[in-house]
Amino acid sequence: ELRSVAFIGLGIMGGPMAANLVRAGYRVTGYNRSRAAVDRLVEAGGHAASSVAEAVADAHAVITMLPADAEVTEVVLGEGGVLEHARSGSLFIDMSTISPRTATALGEAGREHGVGVLDAPVSGGEAGAVEGVLSIMAGGDAEDFERAAPLFDALGTTVVHVGPHGAGQTVKAANQLVVAVNIQALAEAVVFLEQAGADLPAALTVLGGGLAGSTVLNRKKETMLNRDFAPGFRIDLHHKDLGIVTDTAREIGAVLPAGALVAQLLSSCRANGEGGLDHSALLRGVERLSGR
Ligand code: NAD
Repeated sequence: ELRSVAFIGLGIMGGPMAANLVRAGYRVTGYNRSRAAVDRLVEAGGHAASSVAEAVADAHAVITMLPADAEVTEVVLGEGGVLEHARSGSLFIDMSTISPRTATALGEAGREHGVGVLDAPVSGGEAGAVEGVLSIMAGGDAEDFERAAPLFDALGTTVVHVGPHGAGQTVKAANQLVVAVNIQALAEAVVFLEQAGADLPAALTVLGGGLAGSTVLNRKKETMLNRDFAPGFRIDLHHKDLGIVTDTAREIGAVLPAGALVAQLLSSCRANGEGGLDHSALLRGVERLSGR
């Protein structure tokens, strides 16, 4: 049974996820590069560690929720990292969004260290993390998934084992493609409606009740109406994810024109200094294109 959990990366997602594990009765020891996030976990009933090594030393399971491939690779495979210090027979679960290729390599490295590995990225955003209703897509061995199941239940409501190492990240890449194209379509609809002089709140309400309705529309409607682009999910991170989508598509010979286009539009937002804003700020890019 996994009772003691090390949680590394306590940002917008990792912070509330670690707090939910505390609430579910786990002993959670947190480590984050900046200390303020660790202090918040301690306030929520968790324990503080001042290094990766200290966090993972006694843990039955280690979870990482870090920005991207580079950070995960460093924290897991680097000197003083997770695999160097994790207990043999423990479980390592990366819940960040990284490339399927890196996730597969982590699975192999774990096997050499006697540590079970799952890639288990999530969808549902900050609200999903806070409320413990994430969608969790897991790749790895079935017995490791079974061991992790109670832990996942404390974090999410839709938890699916989707295949071997890397498969979770492949599914997450598809998720990010769908979300990005959805937000872009919503942003274009908002600019179109405003330019036409339509009643925007009324229009979005009725769109939400028809086939155009979506979780993206429900969640991003208010941020777009209020032009409140505090993250949420940063443009920089979604740009990283569409990079994973387009790289993987090229490797496997899949053609994703809309995904490639929105990747470019996210690049444009970053070039305009909007990388730190929520991905709903794709609206600003569409407004620029229409001269608004
Ligand atoms: P974030 O930037 O808020 O959090 C990342 C945390 O990792 C930060 O607190 C940072 O200080 C810490 N960190 C970075 N490098 C570190 C290191 N070397 N050692 C220790 N700590 C380090 O990002 P986030 O929004 O929480 O996203 C985390 C991951 O989850 C990303 O891969 C993202 O793509 C994915 N994700 C985010 C959302 C969302 O809505 N925000 C939703 C689903 C998935």
